[in-house]
Amino acid sequence: MSTLRAALTDTPRMVSGFTGGEFVPMRGDPLPVFDPSTGAVIAHLHESDAAEVDNAVMSARRAFDNGPWRHATVEQRQRMLMRIHDALLEQVDELAELETINTGIPIRQTRGMHVPRAAYNFKFFAEYIGQAASELYTQEPGFLTMVMREPLGVCALIGPWNVPLGLTSMKLAAALAFGNACVVKPSELTPLTVARLFEILQKCDLPEGQVNLVNGRGQITGAALSEHPQIDMVSFTGGTETGATILSALARGIKGGAMELGGKSANIIFDDCAFDRALDAALLGVYANNGQMCLAGARVLVQRGIADRFVDAFTRRTAAIRVGDPLAPDTELGPMISAAQSKRIADYVAIGEAEGARLLTGGKRHPGFNAGNFVEPTAMLVADNAARLCQEEIFGPFATLQVFDTEDEVVQIANNSRFGLAGYVWTENLSRAHRVAGRMRTGTVWINTPMVRDLRSAFGGYKESGLGREGGRGCEAMYTEQKTVMVPLEERPIVALGAPS
Ligand code: NAD
Repeated sequence: MSTLRAALTDTPRMVSGFTGGEFVPMRGDPLPVFDPSTGAVIAHLHESDAAEVDNAVMSARRAFDNGPWRHATVEQRQRMLMRIHDALLEQVDELAELETINTGIPIRQTRGMHVPRAAYNFKFFAEYIGQAASELYTQEPGFLTMVMREPLGVCALIGPWNVPLGLTSMKLAAALAFGNACVVKPSELTPLTVARLFEILQKCDLPEGQVNLVNGRGQITGAALSEHPQIDMVSFTGGTETGATILSALARGIKGGAMELGGKSANIIFDDCAFDRALDAALLGVYANNGQMCLAGARVLVQRGIADRFVDAFTRRTAAIRVGDPLAPDTELGPMISAAQSKRIADYVAIGEAEGARLLTGGKRHPGFNAGNFVEPTAMLVADNAARLCQEEIFGPFATLQVFDTEDEVVQIANNSRFGLAGYVWTENLSRAHRVAGRMRTGTVWINTPMVRDLRSAFGGYKESGLGREGGRGCEAMYTEQKTVMVPLEERPIVALGAPS
């Protein structure tokens, strides 16, 4: 057993909130936090009630209204963001191990991607604000019209459990870069790395109250935060239903929210694709991050000419995926985050079979493990896109494969979804690739590549997959207010109401 896992299992960590520059003392009955690989309790989480959420929000409010950060120069903000970046980079190994123990995401992904990306988020926004410019219009004769961006205020940043540090750090880095104060709420299932981030932030000398942390369940802590009258916005990543609840709360205060929500993305594979690359990417698109990935290409749509060969190869490779301890370097699929999440796999197999889908492989709790939420990577062949299997987000290592004939037909299938987060297209025909990408009703389309992020580009969902965009300019829009200032360049006549004629 790893030393860190043994230590956490022996002596679970105490995790509490952070307000006004200090960690909040533990009290009351804590919530247990589990290691999904073993079922052991690895932390006790102090849940922030409405009064503590109020303290955190008001601390951020005071920091924003009276503190120095919103007036800090670009260079001061850049220096601070780079200090956080450097401090995170020094802790990559420990943070990756902690993330893997708490989430079950294989270490090769947390160490290789999530944690370095968390550090990079701060560097990216440090660089971005160094190049950001305002708008100036000169078309109105005799006037200069400037449109400037100002910090928005107090940002509530609510994150999910599937990529806790990577996604929450993006929100935090962007909100800070644009001059805001923040209250962060991670998922109650995976609070450990964000709590560690706050220990790191505490040593970085941010102004008091600039960053605050609350912990707890969605209906208690999350609701108290998103309904608080003194927040100015919510940046949320999580499920579509939760997003709708938060938007209703925001609507009452006429506030905005940035919503990164669920997905059920189509991966379209035409006959003329580079077969082996398309196969590798399709597997990665479904099973990376334990299949718990908003961007998963969970609906694999294959053109008839290669369908038998592709389905056969996909099934064999799925069955060969290495399921195991996520801390082992060669593990490809770790445990699901919770017992409830692992039960969904078997539940959806039953739903699929009742709808006429055929199980290709997997579908059960993995027989190789006595403890933990391990499931078999699963694939089903589906005939009808209206099936619940194709319409509902399962959020686990579960692929549906479906055969199509024509380009028009596959575009219709891909778009027949309440979600519109992402899509993938595989073809060697450049015109067709662009034609199909243009017709897909999704926020991102990847052509001939698995998922890659360029933080400068917009990321977000059409339809019920979200509102707003993350990325450089997207985050600038999300975390700032626009202000227009006009000034005449010469004395211009003013209509003199009430003056003697
Ligand atoms: P979730 O909606 O259950 O929870 C997300 C966060 O919201 C948690 O911190 C939770 O405590 C909080 N929350 C729950 N109810 C709340 C309420 N009433 N008020 C305020 N906060 C509340 O989502 P999850 O299960 O943690 O994450 C999985 C979902 O997230 C999937 O649907 C996935 O597609 C989505 N997701 C989307 C993206 C994206 O970028 N579009 C990225 C990752 C995950």
